[in-house]
Amino acid sequence: RCLANQHAHTLNAFITPLPRAGQWLDRVKEADQRREQGNPKSAVDGRLISIKDNICTRDLPTTCASGILDKFTSPFNATVVDQLEAAGAVIAGKTNLDEFGMGSHSVHSRFGAVKNLRRDADGRDLSAGGSSGGSAVAVAADQCYAALGTDTGGSVRLPAAYTGTVGFKPSYGLLSRWGVVAYANSLDTVGILGKKTSSVRDVFSILNKHDSRDPTNITSSSRSRILSRLQTPRLASRLTSTPLRIGVPLEYNISELTPSVRQAWLLSLAHLQEQGHTIHPVSLPATKHALSAYYVLAPAEASSNLAKYDGVRYGTRSDGPDSDGQPDGYLYANTRGNGFGAEVQRRILLGTFSLSADAMDNYFIQAQRVRRLVQQDFNAVFAAAHPFAAASDAVEIDRSTTANVDVIVCPTAPSPPPRLSDVSAGSSPLDAYVNDVFTVPASLAGLPAISVPVTVAESERNPDADEVAGIQVIGQYGDDELVMNVGELLE
Ligand code: GLN
Repeated sequence: RCLANQHAHTLNAFITPLPRAGQWLDRVKEADQRREQGNPKSAVDGRLISIKDNICTRDLPTTCASGILDKFTSPFNATVVDQLEAAGAVIAGKTNLDEFGMGSHSVHSRFGAVKNLRRDADGRDLSAGGSSGGSAVAVAADQCYAALGTDTGGSVRLPAAYTGTVGFKPSYGLLSRWGVVAYANSLDTVGILGKKTSSVRDVFSILNKHDSRDPTNITSSSRSRILSRLQTPRLASRLTSTPLRIGVPLEYNISELTPSVRQAWLLSLAHLQEQGHTIHPVSLPATKHALSAYYVLAPAEASSNLAKYDGVRYGTRSDGPDSDGQPDGYLYANTRGNGFGAEVQRRILLGTFSLSADAMDNYFIQAQRVRRLVQQDFNAVFAAAHPFAAASDAVEIDRSTTANVDVIVCPTAPSPPPRLSDVSAGSSPLDAYVNDVFTVPASLAGLPAISVPVTVAESERNPDADEVAGIQVIGQYGDDELVMNVGELLE
């Protein structure tokens, strides 16, 4: 059925779809048998899982939606792909994205824009969100059971919000990044998309393991330490029937919030309150600088990561009059000029500038300071201390005066998906960056965050249809289970 859906739709969710026939069919049949006999390999045995095309697969090309990798197939699988296959999952193709993960609408792709399954009242195409738009649409259109994306500043949560699916970004360092093409290493995480939190949880439990090949991946002993530190007596009982303390960040109530998004936020808080949880206003004052800091830090790391695509050691080399018998500079410039799209080139220029000697102090260093402030903001409102905060560098927090919340609940994006024609590749980059305003803070702090769809009757765009808005739950570092549990309460 998923295969039929992949071929029926023209949503451009896949760069490399599943072949119509192939070994994968046998693997699904074998898994079906195991399931009938009552001994499936795992909860995802025989299930089709799509993979964002910046995660390496041995059997299918990995293009990153870029001209510079259009002929690239990795000789190895990313660890997360190996883990899924070992659990019996079948890779359901490679999904479309913004080139190298840079974008918020999945329009910056060598293979054309992804289209949302939903349309506006006039039947016009809407943005699927980005950069993991292909993965989100593949899930929304039942082209697979679940999908992997990557989330550097919101790329799993924003498409989830725009497509009415669930998108989860785990705590930084829990899922292996080995074989995941780097965008900004200090922020990159592998994320999971599914129709329900339960399917996201199934995939998370398979991937949430130490991988020694990724040096930033949390070791097994640190994982146990994190859990024991988070589970103080009060916190352990959070997972049962004890009321949770829900934080509502006042700074997120911006005037740009559309009525349907604000409505979904209010409904979610009322729903949690009805179930006995308590609502507490919290202040995250550094949030207003988070977006600018992110757009200095992420391009800075990207400019360094993308330096290897020079057409000599890596990437598709541009042929052309200049590369023939000309000095190497031409080959390099031609390859990068033709291979990278406009948005990626813009990020490389931005990043190279902010790392240059003259600009470093005013941009990169300042942005790192803001990042630290964003982290401190979160630590000051969560009841649980950050499990890695060393006593020496922790800011003194007077717990008697803080909100002591268990999770924060806020919108994922300020508005419903815009029209694709309004965000097409030539439109203002700043407009696209603004969509990340609520997702970037959790990325800068490395915290777990989930976006779940919440339906509201009120729709500013289409009076005849319900609107679905993404609501985000953010938790303390390592509190991934709690974040998923609260997300599930809102579904
Ligand atoms: N939209 C953000 C960016 O362009 C986030 C991307 C991501 O999370 N990969 O950088």
